[in-house]
Amino acid sequence: MSNLTFTMVKPEAVEAGNAGAILNKIEKSGFRIVALKKVLLTKERAGEFYEVHKERPFYAELVDYMSSGPIIAALLEKDNAVLDFRELIGATDPSVAAKGTIRAEFAESKAKNAVHGSDSDDNANIEADFHFTNGERF
Ligand code: GDP
Repeated sequence: MSNLTFTMVKPEAVEAGNAGAILNKIEKSGFRIVALKKVLLTKERAGEFYEVHKERPFYAELVDYMSSGPIIAALLEKDNAVLDFRELIGATDPSVAAKGTIRAEFAESKAKNAVHGSDSDDNANIEADFHFTNGERF
């Protein structure tokens, strides 16, 4: 069981002024913020982050979107972090995301779905290392 996961509040949610409400919901759900930063990803960096999706038809659109405005990246700690966080954010497509989940409440569409959440312990570590040095984690 892991105790760390990685998240990003995506550009449209930051632009809409929902970052504070989303982070509040995350903290109220028992996650501790270990690291936090606001950053504008270049296309190159966004492409690298989503390299695993390179073969998917929406890859170019995803990279454009994720570099279209600043995101807020965070490393989160909780028992069973990866699975509990996936439950808190809900399904990829907000039209089928469970009521009360972050995506049901804040996402615009399947593409612009407000938040990212790591899908495995290995990816949580890779994604955390992508954004944060050890000196940025408390
Ligand atoms: P997640 O793990 O729930 O974030 O979903 P995936 O790993 O399947 O997809 C990664 C991200 O790609 C999603 O969070 C969306 O932002 C985006 N995405 C997924 N499906 C589509 C799609 O059909 N079209 C577009 N444009 N983006 C998509």
